[in-house]
Amino acid sequence: MTPSASLLLLLLLGLSQALPLQEEGGKEDEAPDIVDITTRILTSNEGSDEILLEGDLLAPRTRNAIICYTQNCFWKKNSSGLVTVPFTVSREFTRSEKQVIVNALQGFHSKTCIRFVPRNNEIDYISVENKVGCYSYFGKVGGRQMVSLQRQSCVYYGIIQHEFKHALGFRHEHTRSDRDDYVKINWANIDPQMAYNFDKQVTNNQNTPYDYTSIIQSLSYWDITRINKLYSYYKLSSL
Ligand SMILES: [Zn+2]
Repeated sequence: MTPSASLLLLLLLGLSQALPLQEEGGKEDEAPDIVDITTRILTSNEGSDEILLEGDLLAPRTRNAIICYTQNCFWKKNSSGLVTVPFTVSREFTRSEKQVIVNALQGFHSKTCIRFVPRNNEIDYISVENKVGCYSYFGKVGGRQMVSLQRQSCVYYGIIQHEFKHALGFRHEHTRSDRDDYVKINWANIDPQMAYNFDKQVTNNQNTPYDYTSIIQSLSYWDITRINKLYSYYKLSSL
């Protein structure tokens, strides 16, 4: 992505909400960081060679679009009603970086039915790796699936939660099917080559409103509601 294209994407993603966020868990040896999640993600991803949709979603290997018609793209609920998601963290991360990652994942535990657990021998799991940029697949892909958290730029509480939300099956607010009811996309300002990043998608909005805070808040009220709704629904329909 060229700097100008990503700047445009950044401006449009930010809309009027590009407010700085007080990070809850920066690297241990640094002072708490004032960071805008979207800015940091897109800046980090400028160096990536991956094909990234909407700025930070890896194009799927097995599906021809970032879309999910079946329950296969969601993680399974166990008999206790919790959704366990096994993960590993690359040894390239330092102990304190790993701690930031684990803290961010544990942030889901108190508010949602998701439980990130260290992988034993599960086939489907998330592998946190130190590649160029911060990005993730959409939903469960099957087998080992990478979440990239570049050590120098992505190991922040809010960014980690943002990328893991994608891996749980959530996309960006600005591409949801009813976004035109809430925001205006300034197409004239978008490089035609980048316009696909703003295509509306078939999304399950779960009777929840457009979440303007999703850009600046890592795990918003509506995120929590949707995670629990989505996975409760699958409990009822699939088990
Ligand atoms: Zn994203």
